[in-house]
Amino acid sequence: MPLELYKKKRNFNETPEPEGKPKSSKSKLAFVIQRHKASHLHYDFRLEMDGILKSWAVPKGPSLNPKDKRLAMMVEDHPYDYKDFAGIIPSGYGAGIVEIWDNGTYSDLENSDIKTAEKNLRAGLHAGNLKFRMFGKKLKGEFALVRLKGKQDNTWLLIKHNDEYAVDEDYNSEDDTPENSPINKWLAENKPDKANTRSAKKKVP
Ligand code: MN
Repeated sequence: MPLELYKKKRNFNETPEPEGKPKSSKSKLAFVIQRHKASHLHYDFRLEMDGILKSWAVPKGPSLNPKDKRLAMMVEDHPYDYKDFAGIIPSGYGAGIVEIWDNGTYSDLENSDIKTAEKNLRAGLHAGNLKFRMFGKKLKGEFALVRLKGKQDNTWLLIKHNDEYAVDEDYNSEDDTPENSPINKWLAENKPDKANTRSAKKKVP
């Protein structure tokens, strides 16, 4: 049953997250990357496929530098409507703040029509070698998600392909956070006391 695990993990009387039903885009597949301050700050990388969002938690966030291989742990499918979700998860699973870091459409490498793209992407997903083209505000061009062979089949790497959108310099998604980011506000207000005390002490001769 689609979204069974997603629903099992959440109490919809408590969380503002969408309960959601399988739904699909009409002309282009959607993606979203959410920045999520939960117990740890991480990024959630979600690609629409067959009416739901295939999802990976990316601890370091995506990179535009092809040298970076960013760990991406596959997590439970999320409902299509999650692509628009931003807000506070007050308690329970994933409690914290969610904001949208990037979104847009994506396709197979050939930018095929939606049905063909979905077929190619589904095959790539099952093969553990998913190649796709992103049309985001921040992420553009070719990317790959490659499943690592081993005991845990939920471990993937997110890699930028070398193309005109790739960069040579160090890339840190934390340098390009949304304006008026509620997470940045929270981080600024919740600096550990010890760190504050220590830096304050340093300034005193
Ligand atoms: Mn998350």
